[in-house]
Amino acid sequence: TKREWKNLNGVIETLFPLIQAKAMYTDHHVDLDLAVCPSIQIHEREIRQLILNLSLNGLEAMSSSGTLTIKTYHQDDQVVLAIQDQGCGIKDEVIDKIGTPFFSTKKNGTGLGLSICHKVVSEHNGKIKIDSSDKGTTFLVYFPCEDNQL
Ligand code: ADP
Ligand code: MG
Repeated sequence: TKREWKNLNGVIETLFPLIQAKAMYTDHHVDLDLAVCPSIQIHEREIRQLILNLSLNGLEAMSSSGTLTIKTYHQDDQVVLAIQDQGCGIKDEVIDKIGTPFFSTKKNGTGLGLSICHKVVSEHNGKIKIDSSDKGTTFLVYFPCEDNQL
């Protein structure tokens, strides 16, 4: 399918009203912290799905009011997308299982969100890193931006 040179910040800004509307229902706040980043070759529909899945997971992880921060920055030859919540974190016994299709700890979860995220990221030659503690979780997605030939 078709990929285009796009800036991640533009995609995030397009999705922001949707994420914020969702957050308002549960008394959460959404912060954007978008730095100047080079454009990368992306499949926009897939990247939207990635940002939405990670953002919704972050919102769902916060039982009381909290802030979801969506951040981008340019680091060496990578564009980094970081989605950070102030939720309960991911327990050690769960962290190895997440991303397996249909694995969910939620009552009505499909357990498909993260497996889709992994697929999208690998199709973009990127990597996902999870940084989790009892203060919250950050999903970091690294996209290569040099020789970004897919
Ligand atoms: P679902 O959201 O339908 O449960 P996902 O694949 O999106 O499926 O996530 C799988 C599981 O990973 C979730 O059920 C949850 O246990 C865990 N998880 C994902 N993101 C977070 C997060 N930000 N904070 C805490 N747990 C998370
Ligand atoms: Mg999910």
